[in-house]
Amino acid sequence: MRILVIGGGGREHSLCWAISASPLCESLYCAPGNAGIKNIAECVPISAEDTDNLLLFAIKKQIDFVVVGPEAALVKGIVDQLTNHGIKAFGPSAAAAMLEGSKGFMKNICKLNNIATAKYCKFTDHNLAKNYIKKHGAPIVVKADGLASGKGVTVAHSIDEALQAVDTMLTDDAFGLAGQALIIEEFLTGEELSFFALVDGQTALPLVAAQDHKAVGEGDIGPNTGGMGAYSPAPVLTKDLETEIMDSIIYPTVSGMAKEGIPFKGILYAGLILTEEGPKLLEYNVRFGDPECQVLMLRLRSDILPALIASYDGVLDKFNLRWSNNAAVTVVMAANGYPGNYKTGSEVRGLENIDSNEVIIFHAGTKTENNKLLANGGRVLNVCASGDTILEAKVKVYAAIDKIDWPQGFYRRDIGWRVIESDS
Ligand code: AMP
Repeated sequence: MRILVIGGGGREHSLCWAISASPLCESLYCAPGNAGIKNIAECVPISAEDTDNLLLFAIKKQIDFVVVGPEAALVKGIVDQLTNHGIKAFGPSAAAAMLEGSKGFMKNICKLNNIATAKYCKFTDHNLAKNYIKKHGAPIVVKADGLASGKGVTVAHSIDEALQAVDTMLTDDAFGLAGQALIIEEFLTGEELSFFALVDGQTALPLVAAQDHKAVGEGDIGPNTGGMGAYSPAPVLTKDLETEIMDSIIYPTVSGMAKEGIPFKGILYAGLILTEEGPKLLEYNVRFGDPECQVLMLRLRSDILPALIASYDGVLDKFNLRWSNNAAVTVVMAANGYPGNYKTGSEVRGLENIDSNEVIIFHAGTKTENNKLLANGGRVLNVCASGDTILEAKVKVYAAIDKIDWPQGFYRRDIGWRVIESDS
């Protein structure tokens, strides 16, 4: 089969790595890809959001199956465009991608299907939003309705902070959020958990647990990022909890979407919070998490391609995924300044000193110029390893990082700390 992967981050590198190992894969393309992906796929210089040119490329190259990594292309309707032209694609339609594209839509699906989530109100008028905040007090959470690249959520610990977030989201153009509708919701407490299921419109297959660290700083403090590292398994997800989440959140969503006439296919990634009253849904994403995907791919033992195609074909009920019992860890190396302003173009050296039997490096924002590897984004490398335990995998990752010479980058030293602390 001729496969096209859309995206150019660490998630897509790990997907390309898994797909390239499939006996079904004859040719692999990636748009736009990065300096690591180009070693295993032919990279095509088309942006992941340029859906018209991606479609033209897929037609020209007679692509059999397209795997879409990032949410923006999904929300824009790349899967509809491709399937309308007879090209199979993994991921939800634009209508189904609204589970991530609009928090208001997601909340409505929750309401219609009795799915536990934070109590909320939706606003387009900032005076009404501010009155609601003053009435309910802090802590309170302010969210942009639409996609905001991880910048659309403020967990406000004071009324002033919440009021400021309303001004930023409804009036400032800083994050391109201006004029967006807002969701204001109750603050929930409990441990957070990411939960992934592969969905084919009717059936849902839970994946093994993988957990990321969103905050930039060690000890999970500081501003949120796209993710500074991830580990799998996450012991908090017991078999009983998995069943409870499937029964009370995932299946009601899948059947609720089908009832609305917008069946969901692809990866349903639920951001959950484990409250005293049980698991509640914070948000849905409609694609693999990045960097959780990297550790999932390290642990996946089944051929990934038939599973992704089964999601498209609606035959997941005949499927089972096999996973390694090993643990996996990935640590993100990011450019100094990330998630704020950072520079690109610095040289990353020393990757050749790393034993590729022990450690896998998935590239995120990288490019090559004159045979030099250059940083080309905020998150630049994902250093990954497997081991009998998370601690063993983590030791291998940090030993490899010590060999990487990149003074313009930083990383967290404590990925997986909750699990390691509770094991010791
Ligand atoms: P989201 O993009 O909706 O997952 O929000 C990003 C982060 O904000 C989450 O991972 C939580 O840490 C936090 N958060 C979002 N909603 C709430 C809430 N209702 N209560 C407490 N924390 C929240």
